[in-house]
Amino acid sequence: MTSLNRETFEILDLNDSLAFMRSEFSLQDGLIYLDGNSLGVLPKATASHVSEVIQQQWGVDLIRSWNCHQWMQKPTELGDKIGRLVGAEMGQVLVCDTTSVNIFKLAAAAVKMRPGRSKLITETGNFATDLYLLQGLAKLLGDQVQVVALPRDQVLNAIDDDTALVLLTHVHFKTGAMWNMASVTELAQKSGALMMWDLSHSVGAMPICLDHVSADLAVGCTYKYLNGGPGSPAFVYVAKRHLAEFQQPLTGWIGHAKPFDFEDDYEGAAGIQQAMCGTPAVLANAALEVSLDLMLEVDMQAVRSKSMHMGKLFIELIQQRCPWFIIGSPTNDEHRGSQVSLTHLQGYAIIQALIARNIVGDFRAPDNLRFGFTPLYLRYVDLWDTVDALVDIMSNESWNQPQFLQQQAVT
Ligand SMILES: *Cc1c(COP(=O)(O)O)cnc(C)c1O
Repeated sequence: MTSLNRETFEILDLNDSLAFMRSEFSLQDGLIYLDGNSLGVLPKATASHVSEVIQQQWGVDLIRSWNCHQWMQKPTELGDKIGRLVGAEMGQVLVCDTTSVNIFKLAAAAVKMRPGRSKLITETGNFATDLYLLQGLAKLLGDQVQVVALPRDQVLNAIDDDTALVLLTHVHFKTGAMWNMASVTELAQKSGALMMWDLSHSVGAMPICLDHVSADLAVGCTYKYLNGGPGSPAFVYVAKRHLAEFQQPLTGWIGHAKPFDFEDDYEGAAGIQQAMCGTPAVLANAALEVSLDLMLEVDMQAVRSKSMHMGKLFIELIQQRCPWFIIGSPTNDEHRGSQVSLTHLQGYAIIQALIARNIVGDFRAPDNLRFGFTPLYLRYVDLWDTVDALVDIMSNESWNQPQFLQQQAVT
């Protein structure tokens, strides 16, 4: 392994085909932001567009905007834009609600589509909301279904002809470990189960081909790599071949075939529109639209290449200069999403010490330090400078101070 130095990273920045994107984002001088996998950075164009929607569409045009500014069409319009990022043809993706709510809707629909099958399979250590929503659904349905949560290496063997649904997160939120979407989907379907992918940590970070791998269902977040803003609405994907029998249980009026007929009885809209529950979040959709348009300007394969390269270099730097840490992510670039986790028992305080230097990563209990790589606005030198700061913090034990050890509510 050749020894790396800061100049190596400066040269990589000069040759970076995505470097031009950084100026599209509102980043404070001196900030190194390695948390775009948790909350993406504000695009510069967002504020003026949202302000225009507020002042003109809401402020002046008021209720007429539902028609003249197509507020009601935004969930499917934005859904189709996300479709281009996840390899889904038109009419299968919709923007609505939160990832949590959407998991419930799709899991309940899956149980209906696989009558007589009782297992909902997922992995232990999955993002908590995925587990909790399956547990909530099982509780609601009584004895009809049960959640089978198993360690990662046992999940695939457990899929059998009593399995209704397999729900997995494509890229693990703590370790960044990535499932092979095509082979896992094929395996689940061989047993007759439906496959739902949670794409929260992959959409916007790499090319995804939902149609190509024949996925059944998917959900994902838009405030992470898609930069939609805090609490921005999530998305659902239902494969076209399932739309005719798809029935989700949150039968709100906006998912009705004719919401403005105000009939007493529910009749679901045809197509993906039925995944809607209530009124769309117009202002949040306006912010998301700007981010999606920006994301659609870049080649996802280039994003993935830069992200893999950044992860690889970061791991090399840690191995060369930081003996204090254990690498908690796959070292094979093909098996890792767009983040690298390090493990250390004092992880929380170390991250706080980094944040005090304007280098923002995050911590996931009990011992994970997470560093997310967002190729649109991160520079290669940022990796060098982060590891340089880590070396200093660790060799001087400067993390060991009361202000860094005191844990706050949101980590
Ligand atoms: C971030 C994330 C979520 C977020 O769910 P919300 O309903 O938006 O809070 C869900 N699942 C996974 C895997 C995530 O990483």
